[in-house]
Amino acid sequence: MGPKMQRKDFTNEMKADFENLFGNQVSFSDPVLIAHGNGESYHPVAKPDAVVFTQSTEDVSNAMKLCDKHSIPVIPFGTGTSLEGHVNALFGGVTIDVSGMDQILEINEEDLDCRVQAGLTRIRLNEELRATGLFFPIDPGADASIGGMAATRASGTNAVRYGTMKDVVLGLTIVKPDGEVIKTGGRAKKSSAGYDLTRLYVGSEGTLGIITEIQLRLFGQPEAVTAATCPFPDISSAINTAMLVVQSGIPVARMELVCEKSIAAVNKYSKLSLAEQPTLFFEFHGTPAWAKEQAEMVGEIATEFGGEGFQWATELEVRNKLWAARHSMYHATRAAYPGCNGMTTDVCVPISRLAEAMEQAAELVEKHDVIAPIVGHVGDGNFHLAIMVDPDDEAHIKRAKAVSESLVENALALGGTCTGEHGIGYGKIGYLKAEHGGGVDVMAAVKAALDPKGLMNPGKIIQA
Ligand SMILES: Cc1cc2nc3c(=O)[nH]c(=O)nc-3n(C[C@H](O)[C@H](O)[C@H](O)COP(=O)(O)OP(=O)(O)OC[C@H]3O[C@@H](n4cnc5c(N)ncnc54)[C@H](O)[C@@H]3O)c2cc1C
Repeated sequence: MGPKMQRKDFTNEMKADFENLFGNQVSFSDPVLIAHGNGESYHPVAKPDAVVFTQSTEDVSNAMKLCDKHSIPVIPFGTGTSLEGHVNALFGGVTIDVSGMDQILEINEEDLDCRVQAGLTRIRLNEELRATGLFFPIDPGADASIGGMAATRASGTNAVRYGTMKDVVLGLTIVKPDGEVIKTGGRAKKSSAGYDLTRLYVGSEGTLGIITEIQLRLFGQPEAVTAATCPFPDISSAINTAMLVVQSGIPVARMELVCEKSIAAVNKYSKLSLAEQPTLFFEFHGTPAWAKEQAEMVGEIATEFGGEGFQWATELEVRNKLWAARHSMYHATRAAYPGCNGMTTDVCVPISRLAEAMEQAAELVEKHDVIAPIVGHVGDGNFHLAIMVDPDDEAHIKRAKAVSESLVENALALGGTCTGEHGIGYGKIGYLKAEHGGGVDVMAAVKAALDPKGLMNPGKIIQA
């Protein structure tokens, strides 16, 4: 490990260099710096010294060369929806906002792939794909950028069927910390050509380089979609249902758990009258007959475990109504606890240990006296507690952190991970050693080799 990172003064010479090169594409205004100093997390804002709005790979390369010249930190920024302090400029420096790089560069319908710029958001990509009969399945709740999703190895509700960003990124264009542009991977569906650099950069959270273009796998839009919901008497009945669905090999496209507290919040927020019980939300893709058959098979399993009121539908409008509670959950929960921020946890365990992990989570919530609605991508063994914290109440934050820490310890003991999809940022940096042991030293060696000055998003994943 090199010397510890120190915050450097952003001098007039640096400012002039950026102004000369980027003109009105660079901002030093306080509201812009603050808006880029945190994502959607509970962490305090840490402002950069400047924000550069790039339009091309060349812009990114030029900005990186200037940061390299002055040895100042670089923080890549997509849409800022990350949850673990990923974009916070802990040591100041320059945030490179790629959201203006939002073009689809090619769609290869016959090969089911496309190439996009990093700032394109997933919803816009799917809007553009609609007429082609193809779609891009990875869906973190937020309308994140494809570059940010690749950088955090994101997933979401469809992962149980379609995988995560690690499965759908075929290749990348990367700007290295010294400004050099390289390409990784390609368009071939498989390759054994050397180290898998694509997978190295996917999930690297802007700590190794900036992604400017992404080659993505696409999927055919399903001929039919069936949605279903089912309330359960308790969380374990819902989890047992989810486990048996997975173990039976039913290729469910989505299987989400929403706890009774969240359903109550949604009832209030969206003026609904859903049963305030733990509820599973399902989606099935296939031919009309196959999607229906999957729903029926899952309905039988749910009934076996005490689920009552399994409802399913194929028409878009009814499907949307069935899923409304799941879709508005985030905003409903925030509205139910005004003045609070959500400290979102994100553990993932092997599916056979999910019921235990959730029971332990419920005990922790009770023991530390916090309010923490649960939502889970349960088909993957992944669940989140949104621990409601008053940002001005130190004692409250301490109790929430105690829950979060024990939750991770429990998940690791069950063979799981401290983060299924949100990533490490700096919020979870302390857990990496417990999960990977000496592997963290290998990660630090990779970081030192690819970013020798330690300028790329310092203080994230690896201690700076
Ligand atoms: C309501 C809500 C629900 C969410 N649900 C999910 C979910 O279900 N699943 C899930 O996985 N996540 C979820 N998230 C988290 C978040 O949406 C994801 O982490 C997303 O992938 C972040 O993308 P972004 O464009 O906002 O990235 P940002 O927040 O801008 O950046 C995230 C990280 O990636 C780096 N980065 C960004 N762009 C680039 C680039 N072009 N090159 C290199 N590094 C880059 C940044 O430096 C930072 O470290 C949720 C967030 C919210 C607010």
